[in-house]
Amino acid sequence: MRTILLWMARNPWLQERLPRLRFVRRAVRRFMPGEDVDAAYAAAVTLAAAGQGILLTRLGENLVAPAEAEDVAAHYHAVLDHNAGLVRPIELSVKPTQLGLDLDEAACLDHLRRLAARADVTGTWLWLDMESAAYVDRTLDLYERLRAGHRNVGICLQAYLRRTPADLRRILPLEPAVRLVKGAYDEPATVAWRKRPEVDGAYLAAALVLAEAARDGKARLALGTHDSALVERIAAYAEAAGTARDRLEVHMLYGIRAGELRRLREAGFPAFTLVAYGRHWYPWYMRRLAERPANVGFALRQLLP
Ligand SMILES: Cc1cc2nc3c(=O)[nH]c(=O)nc-3n(C[C@H](O)[C@H](O)[C@H](O)COP(=O)(O)OP(=O)(O)OC[C@H]3O[C@@H](n4cnc5c(N)ncnc54)[C@H](O)[C@@H]3O)c2cc1C
Repeated sequence: MRTILLWMARNPWLQERLPRLRFVRRAVRRFMPGEDVDAAYAAAVTLAAAGQGILLTRLGENLVAPAEAEDVAAHYHAVLDHNAGLVRPIELSVKPTQLGLDLDEAACLDHLRRLAARADVTGTWLWLDMESAAYVDRTLDLYERLRAGHRNVGICLQAYLRRTPADLRRILPLEPAVRLVKGAYDEPATVAWRKRPEVDGAYLAAALVLAEAARDGKARLALGTHDSALVERIAAYAEAAGTARDRLEVHMLYGIRAGELRRLREAGFPAFTLVAYGRHWYPWYMRRLAERPANVGFALRQLLP
């Protein structure tokens, strides 16, 4: 089921047609407060009032024209400017391909540098999402070059990739900010662990390396997962090694296990919700279905009156 859903996520014919269906549009609202940034701001106000940090991401990936990347960058600058009136600034999470990585790598880096500089002025952070395995080298290169000039930039690493322990060793000297996730794409067994215990084991190992760096003030660690049992296992080991749980941020996606995130926050973990919005939600939404195929049942129930 996961493989089929991830194939559907990449299929241009379905991408053209499925988002037009009313029941699909209704179903996506579970994971996205709305297509418009104002809907995301409204959700952010409620979540911030409950003591959570917020990250925003406008959905969209793999652009076809450089002008689109300029529009995306301009939009994100406006979101950063919105921080001026906020007590706790909103952080941004962006996909490099949404800023034109496939089209012009130098222009993409330039957009990222300017966004990082603006994020710095508005007292916040810029995170790079990690896309499919084909982009990992280029995303790491971008991160290294960005980090050379900006402290407030983070990168996502995917525990399911066999290469991740080496990538982590490569970026640790930069005193990085890392959002550790399990990984959302359909990668072959040659590059990724495919069984859940293997992925969870790799996640735990990478999290503990980062927790030690966070303890020493040499990393910011965000556990990007809804797996609260795994978070608690990591915390048990990390606390035994001297890392306080207020160094173990937990980041979850809007609409998924919100009660668990609240519980973890009350237990002392800094909690963040990543709120997505935008018109180009189809591949992102299909990846959310693939993560929990039972979500397909929820989507189909939207066919009922
Ligand atoms: C803040 C954040 C940022 C992310 N950024 C990236 C990124 O840049 N690149 C990338 O490849 N991946 C990213 N991901 C997705 C990630 O790789 C996983 O695909 C996703 O988080 C599901 O794995 P899990 O860690 O939640 O654990 P799982 O073991 O899959 O799930 C743990 C629990 O959460 C529930 N759950 C998980 N997903 C869902 C869902 N979609 N709907 C309902 N319940 C669910 C499960 O049922 C289970 O009970 C991100 C995830 C988060 C939380």
